[in-house]
Amino acid sequence: MFPDEFDYERPETVEEAIDLLTENPEAEVLAGGHSLLPTMKSGLASPDLLVDIGRIDAMRGIDHGGGTVSIGGLTNYATIDESDAVRENVEVFAEAAHAVGDVQVRNRGTVGGNLAHADPASDLPAAALAADATMVVQGPDGERRVDADDFFLGMYATDVGEDELLTRVEFPARPEAAGAYAKKPSPSSGYAMVGVAVSLTVDAGLVEDVGVAANGIMDHGVRLDPVEDALAGTNPDEETVAAAAANATEDLEEMMMMDDLQASAEFRAQLLETYVERAIEDAATGTGLVAGPP
Ligand SMILES: Cc1cc2nc3c(=O)[nH]c(=O)nc-3n(C[C@H](O)[C@H](O)[C@H](O)COP(=O)(O)OP(=O)(O)OC[C@H]3O[C@@H](n4cnc5c(N)ncnc54)[C@H](O)[C@@H]3O)c2cc1C
Repeated sequence: MFPDEFDYERPETVEEAIDLLTENPEAEVLAGGHSLLPTMKSGLASPDLLVDIGRIDAMRGIDHGGGTVSIGGLTNYATIDESDAVRENVEVFAEAAHAVGDVQVRNRGTVGGNLAHADPASDLPAAALAADATMVVQGPDGERRVDADDFFLGMYATDVGEDELLTRVEFPARPEAAGAYAKKPSPSSGYAMVGVAVSLTVDAGLVEDVGVAANGIMDHGVRLDPVEDALAGTNPDEETVAAAAANATEDLEEMMMMDDLQASAEFRAQLLETYVERAIEDAATGTGLVAGPP
């Protein structure tokens, strides 16, 4: 199908883009286009104006310094996957970027588009939660910072207003943390039927810090607090990890679990427990401090 007619603007600064969005409430931001353009072609979105942010160089690239890794909203998945700064300091996010789609999607899709679009089955939200990301959002009133825990509001809904841009994502640099992302991809689309992100720091054989979050199970990425609580302070051996994973659905409202042609809510809950276990085991093995799975 062809999309409806639309106007097109290509600003070169964040401020110009925000002016265009403020003046045109029916406008949409175009980043990698890998979610927006299919939506327009299928008639589900018909913006009057596309604000193509692809030329805003200030929103592209990765900085590492002062205990923080900062990723510009326009940075594509391939750049994140190949970045030493991300892999060495926020391994879980590099692993999740590596799991997105195929090579074409990873070269085109952007971190800002992925997180702002907030598809329940996309790969980055859980990794942003597990790694304690801060979203930097800019609008007509300036810049504001939003914790990942407060950012995802529902299916395709985030704390980014219509006249705002997600300009960058910041992470605490944690070179001591091992990260893993375990994903059960949909056989048809490759999106996450269930995807679990884990960031794990083990000191003297005991879990010092842990973040565990999941995609695909609820209408947006969710932190799995009961699993984190069960792991804190333990030796993450096989038995402890299995017991912690058994808590995966404890805080999740069964009625609100994703249930569609790809997988029933019941099957997703089973997948979740298995993938939580796998992701923790992968991360624990990565720390080199505890025995890995047999
Ligand atoms: C074949 C295929 C397979 C895919 N497989 C996967 C997968 O396995 N895992 C996965 O996670 N994703 C997958 N995707 C989706 C892909 O990751 C998209 O790139 C992503 O969802 C959106 O990023 P984008 O840069 O393409 O954004 P766009 O499509 O350009 O924009 C998406 C939405 O986000 C808004 N937006 C974009 N950037 C910003 C910003 N900086 N600030 C505020 N709003 C913004 C836009 O207005 C729009 O509403 C797949 C896509 C395709 C086509």
